[in-house]
Amino acid sequence: MYDNKNIFAQIIAGNIPCKKIYEDKDVLFFEDINPVSKVHVLGIPKVKCTNFSDFVLNYNKDIVANFFMKIDFVIEKIGIKETGYRVITNSGSDGGQEVPHFHVHILGGEKIGAKIR
Ligand code: AMP
Repeated sequence: MYDNKNIFAQIIAGNIPCKKIYEDKDVLFFEDINPVSKVHVLGIPKVKCTNFSDFVLNYNKDIVANFFMKIDFVIEKIGIKETGYRVITNSGSDGGQEVPHFHVHILGGEKIGAKIR
């Protein structure tokens, strides 16, 4: 069950500030508050989804495809497409998910190595 009060829901609602990288009516990308690499951006769709499976199984294909295309758009926008990057999503307790709103981490700006977030 989706927690309407989770921190990313509050960021989408504008109740908590964030360092915005890109936003449109469907998606929001912003800097991670506790970066593990020189570039550490979080990307979230604005629908109420708890994790990766919830998002890809329960939302329409256009919404899902658009989100993944926007990840690529942001990777280009922040200038790490050529140098390389890592896109990660954590799910559930074994995955180490802290915030129960589906999100991706975009890591780059340096060699990521064994950092897995
Ligand atoms: P995860 O462990 O995949 O759920 O990652 C949650 C991420 O959200 C962590 O990398 C946190 O540093 C990040 N985070 C938590 N609160 C905020 C916030 N207010 N603004 C930006 N990033 C946040």
